[in-house]
Amino acid sequence: MKLISVIAAQGDVEEHVLMAKRALEELGMEGNVIATIRKEDVAKSDAIILPGGESTTISKLIHKASIAEEIKKAAKEGKPIMGTCAGSILLAKHGDEQIERTKTKLLELMDIWVKRNAFGRQRESFQTTLNIKGIGEFEAVFIRAPAIIKAGDNVEILATFDDYIVAAQQDNIIALTFHPELTDDTKLHKYFLELLLK
Ligand code: GLN
Repeated sequence: MKLISVIAAQGDVEEHVLMAKRALEELGMEGNVIATIRKEDVAKSDAIILPGGESTTISKLIHKASIAEEIKKAAKEGKPIMGTCAGSILLAKHGDEQIERTKTKLLELMDIWVKRNAFGRQRESFQTTLNIKGIGEFEAVFIRAPAIIKAGDNVEILATFDDYIVAAQQDNIIALTFHPELTDDTKLHKYFLELLLK
């Protein structure tokens, strides 16, 4: 029985819990999905989802709750970790000037360069169809979304949009700069949870 934790610092936590539960069911996998900010829960998780929200706030909360270290430990042990929108920012090794100015501490788990609020005012929120490697077409919801502007050779680019990387994977870690939990499509959650079988 696998334990999947959705980090409940701030942001769209419940939506991820529901999507992960549906994905498990559709895959016929046994598992329990919880929303948590407790260190003990994160320590015993088999997979972790870091939702969107506001990256500076989430960073502060996960450090305050001492779970940043647990997430890093889990990542190093090869456990699947998925960060969406603000969560993808926190996975990065390299931030932009806004991240530096706000002294946002990153988890530094992926060799990616992120830019906060990359799509600007005109396109604060939008929906578009992406073509995601290994997954196919996916309706993606972007909300004041970041983008990945550069990635190391060890990072697989899964999708791009407007010359930006919007989905990437480095071994067991996935960064999505949009919100896969806000559509009805469980494909990305299934892709993520299938990493537990590898
Ligand atoms: N703009 C937010 C940030 O930079 C991310 C937005 C989101 O997660 N929907 O922290």
